[in-house]
Amino acid sequence: MILCPFCGSPTRVYDVRQEHRKRRCEKNTEHTFNTVEVVAGSRAANSRGTKSAPLGPVQQEIVARLDGALLSAVDLMAVMETNSKSRIGDALRGLRQRKLVRIAGYQMVGRTVGRWSPLYTLGSAPDAPEPRRDSAAINRRYRANKAAKKLGPWSGLLLEKP
Ligand SMILES: [Zn+2]
Repeated sequence: MILCPFCGSPTRVYDVRQEHRKRRCEKNTEHTFNTVEVVAGSRAANSRGTKSAPLGPVQQEIVARLDGALLSAVDLMAVMETNSKSRIGDALRGLRQRKLVRIAGYQMVGRTVGRWSPLYTLGSAPDAPEPRRDSAAINRRYRANKAAKKLGPWSGLLLEKP
């Protein structure tokens, strides 16, 4: 039951548009408000993320690859020999909606301006928190990369690779 946010009385639906409902308070007809209510059979309830639909072939392979492993989307593309980022991304999104796959950690990608890329594994535990962007480290890598370019072939001998 959805109660009136103004006075706490029971409410009735008086207008429906897909999952959007307009509700009115039973005590005071001036108390009206909008809700989003997903009901059985609506578009939202039948999206690909629902538990009842079987896993697709790409999702099944991801589950097999992630069993006991920690892989990024790029790693999955490599081991599954596909160039389609969206196939992997869509499959991962559906698996995450079903609480079959979680983010267990992050790795830094990109040599100069680094960003954190999620590492996936099987499980329904909450995702690992995303590390904060460290702007000092980004600046340090940028300067080191620039200095290495200036030094040309000597750079590997004189500087640690960023
Ligand atoms: Zn009310």
